[in-house]
Amino acid sequence: MFTLPKLPYEYNALEPYIDEQTMRIHHDKHHAAYVNNLNAAPAGEEVLIKHDVVSLMKHLNDVPEAVRTKVRNNGGGHANHAFFWESLICPDQTDSEPDGMLKDAITSTFGNISNFQEKFEKAGMSRFGSGWVWLVVDDEKSSIIDTPNQDNPWMIGKTPILGIDVWEHAYYLKYQNRRADYLKAIWHIVNWKKVGERFQSSISS
Ligand code: MN
Repeated sequence: MFTLPKLPYEYNALEPYIDEQTMRIHHDKHHAAYVNNLNAAPAGEEVLIKHDVVSLMKHLNDVPEAVRTKVRNNGGGHANHAFFWESLICPDQTDSEPDGMLKDAITSTFGNISNFQEKFEKAGMSRFGSGWVWLVVDDEKSSIIDTPNQDNPWMIGKTPILGIDVWEHAYYLKYQNRRADYLKAIWHIVNWKKVGERFQSSISS
């Protein structure tokens, strides 16, 4: 059985950038539904028992075809949201920018941090409809990708270190149609320490 993880902070911890009501609905309703639907899918399929959800994303081809789309959508929803909550932190605890080797990896690809942020926001804006924007690491190099629906980099053999939800349910209550404002606000609450740890473990594995 897959379980809904608790948020690593209070529902109102990301205010004013993400409001409490959005967090309550997003976590308690949307994320919970992905977990419940994932648990309803398997009926004892071995592949669903032996993997954690990230590992499951890497082994989607082993999932029987009859339930693969269900696992892709709901397993993706579970994996992505668990990763998303951990990517954020309350604004008074964030380092405003990445540092160390992560900063080097980003600046070597994008020139500087603000150029990276601009490209990331653009990728989030150009994702038509629902999806995600990601910073991924490949061979110590960083790049930005975006994915539709609940797809994610693990499904295509890439390692994400930052993932931002651009489904309307992630921002609509506060930002309505202004996805660009939501994406700009996100920089105030990125947990760069966590992203840096993910970067470290991706290059040492
Ligand atoms: Mn979401």
